[in-house]
Amino acid sequence: MKYQKPKGTQDILPGEVEKWQFLEKTARELFGRYQFHEIRTPIFEHYEVIARSVGDTTDIVSKEMYDFYDKGDRHVTLRPEGTAPTVRAFVEHKLFGPEYQKPYKTFYMGPMFRYERPQAGRMRQFHQIGVEVFGSDNPAVDVETIMMAMEFYQSLGVKHLELVINSLGDKESRATYRQALIDYLEPFENQLSEDSKRRLHENPLRVLDSKEEQDKEIVLNAPSILDYLNESSSAYFNQVRELLDELDISYTIDHRMVRGLDYYNHTIFEIMSAAPGFQGAITTVCAGGRYNGLVEELGGPDVGGIGFALGMERAIITLEAEGITIPTSQPLDVYVVGIGDRTNGATLKLVSHLRKLGYSADRDYMNRSAKAQFKSANKQQASFVITIGEDELDKQVAQIKHMGTGEQQTVPFTELYQDINSLLKQ
Ligand code: ATP
Ligand code: MG
Repeated sequence: MKYQKPKGTQDILPGEVEKWQFLEKTARELFGRYQFHEIRTPIFEHYEVIARSVGDTTDIVSKEMYDFYDKGDRHVTLRPEGTAPTVRAFVEHKLFGPEYQKPYKTFYMGPMFRYERPQAGRMRQFHQIGVEVFGSDNPAVDVETIMMAMEFYQSLGVKHLELVINSLGDKESRATYRQALIDYLEPFENQLSEDSKRRLHENPLRVLDSKEEQDKEIVLNAPSILDYLNESSSAYFNQVRELLDELDISYTIDHRMVRGLDYYNHTIFEIMSAAPGFQGAITTVCAGGRYNGLVEELGGPDVGGIGFALGMERAIITLEAEGITIPTSQPLDVYVVGIGDRTNGATLKLVSHLRKLGYSADRDYMNRSAKAQFKSANKQQASFVITIGEDELDKQVAQIKHMGTGEQQTVPFTELYQDINSLLKQ
């Protein structure tokens, strides 16, 4: 019997994992500068947490949940996204309390699970980096969050970025618009795709998001949500725009852009990439928005929130499409070559000494010839090779070679152990 990983998952092997670490490190450093702090929530949640916040009629909840009943008959689900769990934790731990800094700024990174049809770049276990800001209704927070997402990609070296924004307005504006959209779409009901027919009354905004040609044509003349924003929603959106202008952040407005999750309102945004490697295709590399009301929905106070999430798989594809390479090998400080059985202890002792001093060090464990060991040293890009043969062992000396210059000298073990730092100065 041959075992394989579950469909839609991947093993991230050494050689590949360095790219992931690079993304994570970039995010940690950048988010730290913005004073966001990391949160780690469980991989699974009570089903209700996700259903309540993401919305029962969304694809995520209605089709894509990895939910099950555990042995105690509790309905739980692997988390499909990071916002709902973070809001749940924010409320549960009363992070809105007076002892916490406001707004409360947090980020997460880790695996998410959706039962989707696996395709290129679409997995059942995928990974997201995301941020959330709770407790401020200042449009500057919207702009700062957007800016941070843009800077994340910029600091990775991604250049072909485009920011697209829209506003879904507050509850009232959205309800008025929802009706206007239903009124517009109803006469076309028979021409809509099956999915869109279903969404027409359940979640009509999602029809705007349809990838089906027949739907795309119909929504072309749909009313714009921006014409249905009430005064305060409109004023809020204008302030966001003014601040973006003030910071010279260029953007376009797409009044047909909606989000697949129910909790969004006011500002929503996507960052798109037209990296050369995508060959003309435009790919969404980050998506986010404001979700005032969600904290209250999950039992907390009426405080606003805004956040974004980006798929790490897609971020890696984007780096490749931009032609950015991330170094995946870690050069070695010292390779210790041992010749002859009797040197086994001396070489082990030496690599262990070097590692304790903070150098990376390696040796052979396969009884290979001196030539083969030197080959390994080269392959591992060792800066120095220290050779101990049986002769040397008897004399308590070793050969140390600087691989860059080819310079070699014989040094006594005592010096090796007492003064290695100066020996390894390049
Ligand atoms: P789509 O319309 O592509 O299905 P979505 O609206 O479901 O996207 P979000 O819930 O906004 O996506 O998730 C944010 C990001 O997470 C996406 O832009 C994408 O990069 C990534 N993502 C979502 N689902 C998957 C998946 N199944 N596999 C890999 N990445 C994913
Ligand atoms: Mg999806």
